Amino acid sequence: MSTSPNLDRPDFQTLYNSVPMWGGTPDELENHPNMEYFDAFDDKPRCECGIFGILGHPKAVEFTYLGLRALQHRGQESAGIVTADDDSFAYHHGMGLVATIFDSDTLSKLGGDLALGHNRYSTTGQSTLQNAQPLVREYKRGTLAIAHNGNLINAQRIRNDLEDAGSIFSTTADTEVIAHLIARSRQTLLEDRILDALKEIRGAYSLAFMGKSILIGVRDIYGFRPLWLGRAGDAYVLTSETCAFDVIGAEPIREISPGEMVIITGTDKEPESFMFGQTQPHLSQCIFEYIYLSRPDSVVFGELVNRPRRELGRQLARECPVVADIVIPVPDSATLSALGYSQESGIPFDVGLYRNSYVGRAFMNPSQEVRDLMVKVKLNPIHDVLEGKRVVVVDDSIMRGTESRQFVKMLRQGGATQVHVRVASPPNKFPCFYGIDTPTRKELIASSHTIEETRKYIRADSLGYLSIEGMLKCMKSPKDFCTACFDGSYPVEFSGQPTPQLPIAFVNEGD
Ligand code: SF4
Repeated sequence: MSTSPNLDRPDFQTLYNSVPMWGGTPDELENHPNMEYFDAFDDKPRCECGIFGILGHPKAVEFTYLGLRALQHRGQESAGIVTADDDSFAYHHGMGLVATIFDSDTLSKLGGDLALGHNRYSTTGQSTLQNAQPLVREYKRGTLAIAHNGNLINAQRIRNDLEDAGSIFSTTADTEVIAHLIARSRQTLLEDRILDALKEIRGAYSLAFMGKSILIGVRDIYGFRPLWLGRAGDAYVLTSETCAFDVIGAEPIREISPGEMVIITGTDKEPESFMFGQTQPHLSQCIFEYIYLSRPDSVVFGELVNRPRRELGRQLARECPVVADIVIPVPDSATLSALGYSQESGIPFDVGLYRNSYVGRAFMNPSQEVRDLMVKVKLNPIHDVLEGKRVVVVDDSIMRGTESRQFVKMLRQGGATQVHVRVASPPNKFPCFYGIDTPTRKELIASSHTIEETRKYIRADSLGYLSIEGMLKCMKSPKDFCTACFDGSYPVEFSGQPTPQLPIAFVNEGD
């Protein structure tokens, strides 16, 4: 939550507190003894969750497993699948990647033609098994499973009120307040109970609910996070991204609209749909879904991600040209933007850095020697591509700047004579409170340093970012996006909101 301490990274926080972070000059920071430790961190925003649900298919369990694997990029800390047949619910969840949590044994213990799955990367609550989703709760009217993608901005206040009234919580995740609100509703039908809960919660949410013989999809009125409805044979499917449809051979029907609830109760009838919320605000779709988060082969917010992601690179080339011999991406997420930059600039595209995709997150505090080696395990330069070249390296975003600093150093070690960093998004000055795990404002280098100071820190020959106007120009409907992490214009207000005019006065304690 925005108001509670970030409990997910105690080791990082301890180290972080020991560094005169971004209050110091770039030179002071360069020489700080803990700096290399930071360099070992992945310096990317993280998507928080992937959702997959299916009703009416004999292979519901297997399809949910495959769907979660397709959505693995949306959360890698834990995953779970809950299933239901005529008599009972079954559930399995675990920490880590989907492929390691589920094997044929565990899948065979889950049965029925109704299933709901979830991949999680925590931004609220700790990264523990207890917080893994789908959240399954027994209440007066039976069993309920909830899968949530997003972040509620008023969950802490609701939780405080509920605890004052005697409620006991067993997780630290914001999703649990939804379960409590549903359980306390006096309505009879699950959909009406959910509507009661939706009246209380604010913020970003794409939600899937599963009860006995029912699957319900809900998207918040701002449309922050995606959610799709599709069909696999006779079965109906809900998913965060359409790449999961492709994997199971399902056909997309449509994207669930912002402020819409879709109720699926059988294969022989159309899902019911209705809009909730008294007023429909401006759409605030998360533009980071196009910059970095969603897969390029997914349709999100009405468009295949591939086009806007490439276009961001093209626009970047128009705004920040440079004379160079090759364009390379920071693998893998900036590949399409780098291709766009190359196509627009006419500078040949190549691959100059190899990323090892099998490296997980590391929270140990190893020796200096091991820290240096850890970085190399993750990224390695391809020497014959770089040798003697003036290199444009395109990245999708810069958060702390620590990873940029590492790859610039690597490219020079690999033989590059010049390294020009180009970023296919504007400077990230503000944290996200709507379901993307970004560093705190104090950690975001652009919140308190100029582009030239950042360039010095990452030791690039030049540094160029895409402008906010240029970024929006790449979108089909520029008015329909949230850009708060770039300009501080938070579309859903909350207490403790950072003030754009006071760049470093606000210290966000958690995401
Ligand atoms: S603040 Fe940034 S990351 Fe968060 S929803 Fe808005 S655009 Fe997306």
